[in-house]
Amino acid sequence: MIREKLKNLEETCWRNPNIKDASLAISECPLGMKEVLDAAARWERFAPYFKVAFPETESLGGIIESPFREIPKMKAALEEAHNIKIGGNLWLKMDSHLPVSGSIKARGGVYEVLKTAEEIALREGLITKESDYSIFATDAVKQVLSKYSVAVGSTGNLGLSIGIMSAKLGFRVTVHMSADARKWKKDMLRSKGVEVIEYSADYSEAVRQGRLLAESDPYCHFIDDENSKTLFLGYSVAALRLKEQLREAGIAVDSAHPLNVYLPCGVGGGPGGVAFGLKLVFGNNVRCFFAEPVNACCMILGMSTGLHNKISTEDIGITAKTTADGLAVGRASGFVGKLMEPFMSGCYTLTDERMCRMLTKLADAEDIFLEPSALAGMYGPVLCETDEEFSPFKSQNATHIVWATGGSMVPPEEMKKYYLSGK
Ligand SMILES: *Cc1c(COP(=O)(O)O)cnc(C)c1O
Repeated sequence: MIREKLKNLEETCWRNPNIKDASLAISECPLGMKEVLDAAARWERFAPYFKVAFPETESLGGIIESPFREIPKMKAALEEAHNIKIGGNLWLKMDSHLPVSGSIKARGGVYEVLKTAEEIALREGLITKESDYSIFATDAVKQVLSKYSVAVGSTGNLGLSIGIMSAKLGFRVTVHMSADARKWKKDMLRSKGVEVIEYSADYSEAVRQGRLLAESDPYCHFIDDENSKTLFLGYSVAALRLKEQLREAGIAVDSAHPLNVYLPCGVGGGPGGVAFGLKLVFGNNVRCFFAEPVNACCMILGMSTGLHNKISTEDIGITAKTTADGLAVGRASGFVGKLMEPFMSGCYTLTDERMCRMLTKLADAEDIFLEPSALAGMYGPVLCETDEEFSPFKSQNATHIVWATGGSMVPPEEMKKYYLSGK
């Protein structure tokens, strides 16, 4: 039934019947707060480096973090468009405006590059974990790292974040780009000395080719978006930071004041890592929803059938083609779906057209410009009010958090096209 709807490219909501009590799910999970805190500590060690290498991070003490902002005018616009009242308040977590690469990939992707650099530097005796990591900005360290390379397969944003970060640290870096990747992303990477290899096939093929080439080179670290726990943990640190931002904003989170968090999903690592961290921090008081384009519905397909990465959109006759290039994935990560099974509240799909219309609406209402992928979460608060499947998540006291995953680096002329297409 749900499979039929997905096959017909209908917008679909799915509530997860396998969700468990958060403490039970956490106790049964192979990853936990210990691993998240270890990742947070690694980010901290690199803070002195970021202050030097990316001066825009200076004001936050070298920490890569994004603004958290209430969007009441957008809430009103959604209410008017759908003729509903949305219970609670609407907030935007603006990973679209993260330093370094302007998308959520500045969490996972950058983190895995840092971890790789740290391991090499420790092994080569250049640092200890107590060193001042601004040493990574020196030519001496860059020279050592230039013996090594990093490779990744990407629909665009992961390549951008890994390419920018790796090149800055001195690594040689190759990005295998799928057909969906935007030209400006390839141009920007090439301008930074990154080798970009283009494929006419989709994301899975770009990853497969990249993995093959990297395997034959012992000095190459391949960042495996479909299987990487390191990427996942890099993303998860967002939850610790959001906890602070909620506290600063005076927002209570308890059983009477739940958080509903809506996360755009591609392969699943980004939303999975963030959601996992949030469940560790807020337990049953946070409800996490993953949002996908109707054409790239790999997570809802994998979760609702229980087949996870054993099924792809192609198997039900859909090509993962979408304007939301950050989400253009036909097969979900090998471990994220399985790991998220007891934690995720639900998934939904929406059309490209709806994402584009909301892009324009958000720009008009709040003067915030995002890329289409980043709007996938914006439909969630509406669905909690209108869709039978999500009715258990309706609440007068909820804080709805839409995770805006990218957009600040989109060139103005590209953004104008997106804006006009949503008019
Ligand atoms: C990558 C990406 C996502 C989703 O992350 P996955 O790890 O692929 O699930 C969402 N939005 C944007 C803009 C992205 O680039």
